[in-house]
Amino acid sequence: MRGTLVVGNWKMNGALVANSRLLERLASAWRPTDPRTLAVCVPAPYLAQAQAALRDSRVAWGAQDVSEHAAGAYTGEVSASMVGEFGSRFAIVGHSERRRWHHESDALVGAKARAALAAGLTPIACVGETLDERERGQTKAIVARQIDALIDAVRADVARLVVAYEPVWAIGTGRTATPAQAQDVHAALRAQLGDAGAAEVSILYGGSVKSANAAALFAMPDIDGALVGGASLDADEFLLIGRA
Ligand code: PGA
Repeated sequence: MRGTLVVGNWKMNGALVANSRLLERLASAWRPTDPRTLAVCVPAPYLAQAQAALRDSRVAWGAQDVSEHAAGAYTGEVSASMVGEFGSRFAIVGHSERRRWHHESDALVGAKARAALAAGLTPIACVGETLDERERGQTKAIVARQIDALIDAVRADVARLVVAYEPVWAIGTGRTATPAQAQDVHAALRAQLGDAGAAEVSILYGGSVKSANAAALFAMPDIDGALVGGASLDADEFLLIGRA
């Protein structure tokens, strides 16, 4: 169901002692009266730690990727059901860093979303254009192609997705899309989700979200929350975004 959520993407950051401080602070500070869902997507080896630290809190957790396969001879891969065994609610799929560095195609990202759903996880499916694509005026065509592949892969389950619009040029660069630029893309994405998903799917914005710009982004009618990278590693900053 379309709800507001703020999700931290730790990327390949963390260590047991530092994680424990961060998770404990989130667990104790996120109150029942806080309206949004707050979640962290941690590196797979830390899922058990996240589960232990957050299980009695109002903060959810998940992984940053899953295999498209259910099980088998895929050395180094982590399946969605393994992620689910540690109480995860979410799995990011198709982050631009995976699309770029691991050459993940639209079809593969769709298959990963399907694998996550089959294991009972909510996929947070990322879409977004590069700077070059934006400058050529291709933003909406690119994200439409990426969403089409997701819809094709999950079919009747579209309403169970969360989508994150993350312009690649805004990730980790300190350069955020303006609220109007983001809203423009979010509205197009929602229209494309159509009857099957427009009313149900939460669409998050991601790319250099901080407490200083979160409220203006969240004021837009089609922005339902944020996927937060760098700023999610600082508990106080992340909590401020959650409450923005
Ligand atoms: P950033 O990353 O907030 O550090 O820009 C966002 C993301 O990659 O999900």
